[in-house]
Amino acid sequence: MSLIADTLLSYLPPKRKHTPSGWISFNAPCCVHNGTGADTRQRGGFIVNGGDAVSYHCFNCGFKASWQPGRTLSPKLKKLMQWFNVPDDIITKLTFDALRLKEDADTGTQQKLVPTFTPRALPLDSKPLEECTNNKHIVPVLEYLQSRQVFLDDYSFYWTHKAGFKNRVIIPFYYHNQVVGWTARSVNGHNPKYISEQQPGYVFNLDKQHWDRKFVIVVEGPFDAIAVDGVALLGSEVKEGQHLLINQLQREVIVVPDRDSAGKKLVEQAIEFGWTVSMPEWPEGVKDVSDAVKILGKPAVLWLIITQRLQTELKIKLRMKQYFNE
Ligand SMILES: [Zn+2]
Repeated sequence: MSLIADTLLSYLPPKRKHTPSGWISFNAPCCVHNGTGADTRQRGGFIVNGGDAVSYHCFNCGFKASWQPGRTLSPKLKKLMQWFNVPDDIITKLTFDALRLKEDADTGTQQKLVPTFTPRALPLDSKPLEECTNNKHIVPVLEYLQSRQVFLDDYSFYWTHKAGFKNRVIIPFYYHNQVVGWTARSVNGHNPKYISEQQPGYVFNLDKQHWDRKFVIVVEGPFDAIAVDGVALLGSEVKEGQHLLINQLQREVIVVPDRDSAGKKLVEQAIEFGWTVSMPEWPEGVKDVSDAVKILGKPAVLWLIITQRLQTELKIKLRMKQYFNE
C-alpha cells in the first residue's frame, strides 16, 4: 500500500463504519471548515482503491479530495490531512514522496523496474505428477514426456483430472519458491497447445539458476529450458522487464533462438542487450534445443551451445544467414 493511503488510514477519525464496498465512514471533519454545521451522521467517506489511490467524499458539505500514484498532493488533500490531525512534518514528507513518484512516472523509470510476481493457484485439483503414476489416465502424459526425453525428476510437473486438463502436463511457474503461474501443455496435439496463467515479465526457471554457474542459457519454450537447465522467455521475444530479471543473475547470457523466422527477432534483441548468441550446427531437422537434446543428449548440446556462442554483431549476423537457411 502507498505511504499516503497508509498514513490516512491511521489518522481517520474514531467511530468508523466499514461498508462491504470498501468505504470507511465516520463523522466528517471538513464541514465546520466549509461553513456547514458539524457532521454527526458519519457522512464522511474514505476509500483506498487498487491498494494505492485514495478518495475522500463528504456527503454533508460536499468536500472531495483524492490522490493516485503519479499525481502530486493537491491542496485539498493536504487540508484534509490537517483536519485529520496528521502532523505537518508528515504532510511535508508525503508531499515530497508524491512528487518523487510523479517524477519517476514522468521519466518512465517506473517502467524500467524489475517485475515482481504474486502467488497464483494451479488449476483445480492439481497434484504432483509422480503421485498420479497409478492413474491410467496419465499414460498419454507420461508417454509425451518420454518422447521429449524429459523425466519426472527433471521438473515438478503437475496433473489434474479436471475437464480440459486431462490430456495436459501442468508446468508450474516458480519464482522464489512460490508458484506465480503455470502453463498446461497439450500432450495429444489438441489446440490450444498451451493454456497458461502468466504474469507480465515472468521468466521461466530462474529458480534453477544456481549462483555458481558461469552462464545463463536463454531459450524460448519451457521444455527447452528444462532440457538444458536454462531459462525460458515463454515466447519468441524478450518482453518488458524480462531482460532485467535475466541481467540480475549477473552472468554471461547466451541466447539460443529457435530455428524459425520468429527466432530472428530474438537475435536482434540479444544484440541490443549485449548478450551472446549461439546458433549451433544442429543435426538435420532440429529446430530447437529440446529437439537437439532428444538426438544428441544434454552434455553434447550444452557443449555445442557454449563453444559455438558468438559475441560480436558481425559474427552473429553472418551465422544467422546459415542458421535460418536464408
Ligand atoms: Zn464535510
